Formats: sequence, C-alpha cells, structure tokens
Amino acid sequence: MATIAFIGLGQMGAPMANNLIKQGQQLHVFDISQAAVQTLVLQGACSAKSAADAAKEAEFVITMLPNGDLVRNVLFGDEGVCTTLRTDALVIDMSSIHPLQTDALIREMNQKGFSMMDVPVGRTSDHAVAGTLLLLAGGTPAQVERATPVLMAMGNELVNAGGPGMGIRVKLINNYMSITLNALSAEAATLCEALGFSFDVALKVMSGTPAGKGHFTTSWPNKVLKGDLSPAFMIDLEHKDLGIALDVASSDAARCGLTRALQPGARRQTWTPGLDSHS
Ligand code: NAD
Repeated sequence: MATIAFIGLGQMGAPMANNLIKQGQQLHVFDISQAAVQTLVLQGACSAKSAADAAKEAEFVITMLPNGDLVRNVLFGDEGVCTTLRTDALVIDMSSIHPLQTDALIREMNQKGFSMMDVPVGRTSDHAVAGTLLLLAGGTPAQVERATPVLMAMGNELVNAGGPGMGIRVKLINNYMSITLNALSAEAATLCEALGFSFDVALKVMSGTPAGKGHFTTSWPNKVLKGDLSPAFMIDLEHKDLGIALDVASSDAARCGLTRALQPGARRQTWTPGLDSHS
C-alpha cells in the first residue's frame, strides 16, 4: 500500500480521502480547515501541519481544491508541496481548473524534476461517498498506469483522456454540455408550464427522442460518427420549427400562461398546440 498526501478535504475531497483509507492506503491529510482534517483523522488519516508536511513522505500527492490559483499555491507556496516532495512521487490534481493553468502547472513541475498529471472527476458528492466517481485521466501512459490502482478507490470508471492536460479538457467540455442542456431543459419545462400542459406529457415525448436522450447516443452513432454528414432533416424546416417555437414562447398566450402558472394554487389550462414531436 502507498503513502498518499491528500490536500483539500471539502465536499468531494473528504469522501475521496476516506475511500483511500478504506482501500488500506496510508493517508497524510491537509486542509486549511482544522475541522475537515480532524474528521479524516478520526477515519484513520494522519494529520499534517501544511501541504509540505503532508507531501514529505508521499508516493502520491492528490489535490482536490476549488480553483487553479489554490492548486498553484499548494504546490509552489512557501509551505507548499514542492518544498518537500520526493522526485519519484506522482502529483495528481483532481480539481476542476482552467486547462491552461493545468498545462502551466505540469510544465513548471516537470521543469523542477517532478511528475504531475490531471485527473478531474465527473458526477457528484454522492458518487464521491460511494466511490463511484467518473475519473478523467490526463497523463502519460506510464502515469495513468501507475495511478490507476489508487484512483480506482475513488471511482468505478476511468477514462484515459489521451495525455497530460486532456482530463481537464474533456471534463470542461462535458460540464459545458451538461450545464447548457440543463438550462435548456429548464426553459422547456417552463414553456410546458406556460402553455398549460402537464410536464408528464413533455417528459413522455422528450424522453423518447434525441431532445431528452441526447444526440451523441441516438442520432449520431449510426450517421454523423460514421462520416455521413448528409442532411436527415432539412435546415429550412428546422429553422421554421425553431421560429415557431420561439414565436409561441414569446406569445401573449405563453406570457399569460406563465403568469398564471406562477400564481400559487393556479390551475393549469390545457393548450392544444398541435406541435409535432421532434424525432
Ligand atoms: P469544497 O469547497 O467543498 O472543498 C474545498 C476544500 O479545499 C475545502 O475544505 C477548503 O478548506 C480546502 N482548501 C481551500 N484552500 C486550501 C488550501 N490553500 N490548502 C488546503 N486546503 C484548502 O469544494 P468541492 O466541492 O470539494 O470541490 C473541489 C473540486 O472538485 C473543485 O475544483 C470542484 O469544481 C470539483 N468538483 C466538484 C464537484 C461537486 O459536486 N462538488 C463535482 C465534481 C468536481
């Protein structure tokens, strides 16, 4: 089993560190919150006075921090990891930070003779507790191979993203897509409400089409991803449908519906728009 420094014991880091302890690893933990450190000590970790103190015997150093400036400070600050780090140790940044910061950190670590990779995670703090995070590994093949047994204590699916800095890049694209789709989903749900029909109807329709299932896994695999870029639905027809949807959404009927829908205890009126289901 390995000696691991774990720095950043928040909503994600604390359960991730706990899962490493359960795997039998020797953990040295540091956080600016003493309470966070104490919780991990009760679970079997050794308390460290600083990031440098946590890192001094470590084979792996894991950082799970809110932003890139903090990662930089934890690595290169006065009491930072690099002041004590062994040259044979592997630093794994699991935070979600700007990829250009990741590139710069990896470059500077390498210039100092240290090894660093990025492994941000997908999913939520519940998955962190359950040890079922999605691990997005950015590193050299040797780094990914070396880190995998340790990483698999924290997740149940590891994707090799294809090289240093690629883990954070794929993570950000995933989050961009997920967040914008969530905003669009909220707009669609609001429109249902405004037009006065049950959300269950929308759910039934959209959960069976690419609108709800996503195009990557439905319309793309047998077409776009196989190089077939010929139109399956004409852009002028899509333009017409989008135009109608926007027109309906900005109509007085929708605005009145929304006003009614937002009133406490309001009964929804049924509107029969005759909209086509978009397959
Ligand atoms: P958090 O704010 O709960 O925890 C961050 C921890 O870092 C805190 O305990 C804080 O005290 C500690 N910290 C801050 N500065 C420090 C320093 N200089 N030295 C040592 N410790 C320091 O954040 P979180 O939710 O655990 O998220 C951590 C990272 O994981 C973020 O980059 C976030 O974007 C990413 N992430 C979060 C989620 C989520 O659902 N919360 C999911 C995936 C990825």
